[in-house]
Amino acid sequence: MRLLTLHCDYIKFKPLKKAIKAPEELDEERKKEIVVKDPLVVLTAVERGDSDEILKDYIAAIKKTAGEVQAKNIVLYPYAHLSNMLSDPTTALEYLKEAENVLKGEGYNVTRAPFGYYKEFELKCKGHPLSELSKQFRAEGVQEINSSAPKKEIQNKQSSGKIILDRRNLKPNDHRILGEDLGIFYLSDEVGPGLPLWLPRGEVLRNQLEQYMREVELKYGYQYVTTPHITKGSIYEKTGHLPYYADTMFSPMEIDGINYYLKPMNCPHHHMIFQKIIKSYKDLPLRLAEAGVVYRNELSGVTYGLMRVRHIMQNDAHIYVTPNQLKDEFIKVLKMFDEVYQVMGIQDYYFRLSLPDFKKNPEKFTGDPKEWEFASEEIRKAMKEWGKNFTEENGEAAFYGPKIDVQIKNANGKEETIATSQVDIVVPKRLEITYIDEKGEKKTPIVIHRAILGSYERFVAFLLEKTEGKFPVWLSPIQVRVIDYTERNTQSAQKIVDKLKEAIPGLRIDSDFRNTTVNDKVRDSEMQKINYLVTIGDKEEEKGTLAVKRRGNNKPEFGVKFESFVHEVKEKIEKRN
Ligand SMILES: [Zn+2]
Repeated sequence: MRLLTLHCDYIKFKPLKKAIKAPEELDEERKKEIVVKDPLVVLTAVERGDSDEILKDYIAAIKKTAGEVQAKNIVLYPYAHLSNMLSDPTTALEYLKEAENVLKGEGYNVTRAPFGYYKEFELKCKGHPLSELSKQFRAEGVQEINSSAPKKEIQNKQSSGKIILDRRNLKPNDHRILGEDLGIFYLSDEVGPGLPLWLPRGEVLRNQLEQYMREVELKYGYQYVTTPHITKGSIYEKTGHLPYYADTMFSPMEIDGINYYLKPMNCPHHHMIFQKIIKSYKDLPLRLAEAGVVYRNELSGVTYGLMRVRHIMQNDAHIYVTPNQLKDEFIKVLKMFDEVYQVMGIQDYYFRLSLPDFKKNPEKFTGDPKEWEFASEEIRKAMKEWGKNFTEENGEAAFYGPKIDVQIKNANGKEETIATSQVDIVVPKRLEITYIDEKGEKKTPIVIHRAILGSYERFVAFLLEKTEGKFPVWLSPIQVRVIDYTERNTQSAQKIVDKLKEAIPGLRIDSDFRNTTVNDKVRDSEMQKINYLVTIGDKEEEKGTLAVKRRGNNKPEFGVKFESFVHEVKEKIEKRN
């Protein structure tokens, strides 16, 4: 069995039409929309080979999570996409009914969503550390693909191209469609779900964003570091991420008898660097940045495109401060958000400040309430001083400190969190990192975790959808394309390519000298959303000028001087507009 538990503010769902031949019979009530408030939603796939033993594990796991998040309402929700080895429907329904009965018997309010139907559903996940957990229970010896099949067939099955983009229900600006059409990324079945391959053009985008962030961060006094992808498990036990985040981490690998994990976050590594290089309060603040790669064990069924992936490159940074420095450093982070988002053309965004609620939910927030109060107050002051719109939510803080989320509207008008900045007053203590203060006493620094772009994967997905792939010149994978009007002009067109490369170092330029019509070439350049299309015909050769068609304009401009074109492109790249 595979399950994904979501602790939600609410879920509503309604069956629309049959998804299998013989779905379960529904009475009138269950045909209507059902709303459950504050549920623990358990998305479930029953798999081949599941037994009563496994059902017991499944029920125990639900009870454990329900206890931890204090949920009384449970929604059992059949969700076939979690597995590619589903059991037959009759068995699946039986198991779900059995789980429903057992949990009801133990005093939970259980709602079981209709089985065998396409359903519309909407939910709001609470977003705290325990609100999203995935688990898998499988009898020993049961493998992904029927193990009695001969080896060759298994290989064929695995490489049969399961990751195929079904465009039928996607909007034209969906980043998965644009990503494929513009050659940005590729999900190979040989590599696996949630593990995107950045294609050359996509890598340009990612790299340009990374370079840009580096520039901004260096300007703000950050220092870059690089840390390894695997690490001893003991450090995650100290931070408290094990066992709490175990579900989102990949199974460990053993080296010299010690368990090593793919890192799910960069913080502990940066904390170790802090401890190595910082001695005194005089060395603070310390700002460490990294385009850090982390790995999260998302279920295959929930990974998609670049939005939800297993390999994530974060625009990550940690700022180590004394209590006195917290407010000002936080304002600098807010300032950086504004500066970067302006360049990215993101205007509609606001900050959501999440604070603890010690009255209602004291056990959720570990550590000293006084320190929490101090940190919350400093962040609130910072937000006010910075003077931008923000909302406050009590009880939504991370387990280690208050945080702000940056909320944007995505291309479909839906609100999303694109980035966060969190204050951490708990983990540095657990890792016992210290500096010496003015009085010669050992103190623990406060840490600000911040990611301005969030992850490069998600950010590129967001940008693709927002711009429909029409990137500004500085970011475009191909900035200029040169074409010949006829074969006669090929040679001088090639010369223009060479001259432009020399005049603008690093220019991303290509050419299209195919033996086809100019219209074809123009159309192709438009499909690829290239910023400038330069045509060289007899007139241009004769006068030594360029015919320049800017993306979005219907007609080219004739008679453009080489120098003025170079000036225009250079300026766009430098100013990043
Ligand atoms: Zn962090």
